[in-house]
Amino acid sequence: MRTLVTGGAGFLGSHLCERLLSEGHEVICLDNFFTGRKANVLHLEKNPRFEIMRHDVTDPFKVEVDWIFNLACPASPIHYQYNPIKTVKTSVVGAINCLGLAKRVKARIFQASTSEVYGDPTEHPQRETYRGNVNPIGPRACYDEGKRCAETLFFDYHRENGVDVRVARIFNTYGPRMLEDDGRVVSNFIIQALRGEAITIYGKGEQTRSFCYVDDLIEAFMRLMKQEETVGPVNLGNPSEFTILELAEKVIELTGSGSKIAFRPLPADDPLQRQPDLALAKKYLGWVPVIPLDEGLRQTIAFFRELAKAGRVQTGASDS
Ligand code: NAD
Ligand code: UDP
Repeated sequence: MRTLVTGGAGFLGSHLCERLLSEGHEVICLDNFFTGRKANVLHLEKNPRFEIMRHDVTDPFKVEVDWIFNLACPASPIHYQYNPIKTVKTSVVGAINCLGLAKRVKARIFQASTSEVYGDPTEHPQRETYRGNVNPIGPRACYDEGKRCAETLFFDYHRENGVDVRVARIFNTYGPRMLEDDGRVVSNFIIQALRGEAITIYGKGEQTRSFCYVDDLIEAFMRLMKQEETVGPVNLGNPSEFTILELAEKVIELTGSGSKIAFRPLPADDPLQRQPDLALAKKYLGWVPVIPLDEGLRQTIAFFRELAKAGRVQTGASDS
């Protein structure tokens, strides 16, 4: 099996490349290194079945592959809002290029969609049948609408051209190799705690998220690609829901930090609550996440401590 992973040098992509190599695939990691890092895949470069291609998914490309995982897209608000037009192009033109390739070489193709397609949901927990509550002109729209349009393209290529698609709607996922400065809540809180800085809670911290550890998610990716019963969309995430305030308290406890909590204004269109309904994932993939938040956070904290030791992030005096 030869498999292409777009966005393969990113947080999720690098874990996926690792998993595919461990299952005997030849892996082509395509990335423009906007938010991905060579360091994330450096340890894989020794493997003769692993190849890196510096390329942008908005430009067409040709490779002979059996599977494609399309993960290329900045995922954190700071990065996807940095150049919102480019974000839309990456989702939409990137999907067209990947789907065109899948059609030509008859590859099975996976789309990393997102719970953001539900926007600020009025249905809770969110089922795949829920059509969402997205502000099409707000600051998150470049990401949310880009991903919604990519889903449209996946289903049109499937209906019109028989392309063998799989669409996953991924909920908040965390773990080692998240970027320390990308503003996502788990990495932000851990870095702040290790530095002994104030933990910045946006709003009152009453908004909820459900956090999935990366290893659980990658297992679900593989199961979705290997099964024949559904093309999706399938929600993938952890249904254990926490308020952002609870998350902050957990991070302080697990790092043993003396950090205090500081409240900051809530960003525009920040969803109030989010929790996946996993009925389809259970039915078709026989999958539920098994790694509890405390354990996943410990692994992630250990990763950031290692980075600090290697001098790759500054964590200040409170670091041990
Ligand atoms: P990430 O930013 O670490 O990874 C994205 C990767 O795509 C990076 O390596 C980046 O350099 C690359 N990339 C961006 N634009 C590109 C382009 N035009 N051409 C080629 N490569 C490009 O983010 P992640 O968390 O690993 O997310 C991976 C995918 O999963 C994204 O599509 C994201 O939308 C989706 N997703 C992630 C989460 C999550 O919680 N991590 C949740 C929902 C969906
Ligand atoms: N958040 C926060 N402090 C931070 C970073 C994020 O309170 O330093 C909040 C953010 O407002 C949101 C939640 O944490 O309500 C999750 O944010 P993230 O950007 O990680 O993911 P998303 O909003 O895309 O779910």
